[in-house]
Amino acid sequence: MWERGDGERVARKALALLAGAVPGASEHDLAALPVGRRDASLLELRERMFGSRFSGRTSCPACAEQIELTFDADEVRRDAAAATAFSMRIDAFDVELRLPSSSDLEAIEPAADLAAARAMLFARCVTHVQRDGSTAAIEDLPSHAIDLAAARMSELDPQADVTFDVGCPSCAHQWREPFDVVTFLWSELDAAARRLLGEVHRLALAYGWSEREILGLSPARRAAYLGMLG
Ligand SMILES: [Zn+2]
Repeated sequence: MWERGDGERVARKALALLAGAVPGASEHDLAALPVGRRDASLLELRERMFGSRFSGRTSCPACAEQIELTFDADEVRRDAAAATAFSMRIDAFDVELRLPSSSDLEAIEPAADLAAARAMLFARCVTHVQRDGSTAAIEDLPSHAIDLAAARMSELDPQADVTFDVGCPSCAHQWREPFDVVTFLWSELDAAARRLLGEVHRLALAYGWSEREILGLSPARRAAYLGMLG
């Protein structure tokens, strides 16, 4: 997972993790999963690899106090989307859409700014627009259609857009903190992979063992040999 995702943008990192979470699935199928389904799998993978306790840091938006956050996986677990396609009435238009997938997130990564990214995502996810029973163009939709669609997508796929309550111990300010399982899990995996490579490096230098031999040792035996090296 680490080799596939290292140096890639975040959507590719997410797919590298997902391939590890759902072995045997095709890359195409994984990339087409709604983001909430992806993130539910990544949350399970995180629990298997590193446990269900999370700790992180944030700062209070009101007073800038640095805050240590600890929370459980259950606090950031949400319901799965019931369906990937949905429809909305927006002013005089009937709009059919689908939930965003990893492919969509990857496609919008080069966007210049957040507004451009949102517009690109909306255009990708709209599958059909009708007005008075005849087909209309996406350009005919009012500008607030993007906001309405984004809000509906969050409702329908809550695991794709997770926030949780945080209170500041200094000034009592309350806010919703976003939780991104991809960023979280990737940074943990990256640290673990680099630590493991560092262990291989030290043991290979000291004993002349191959990478395969060193990785074949149990973690306890690896730690014991590393302890002897001081
Ligand atoms: Zn504060």
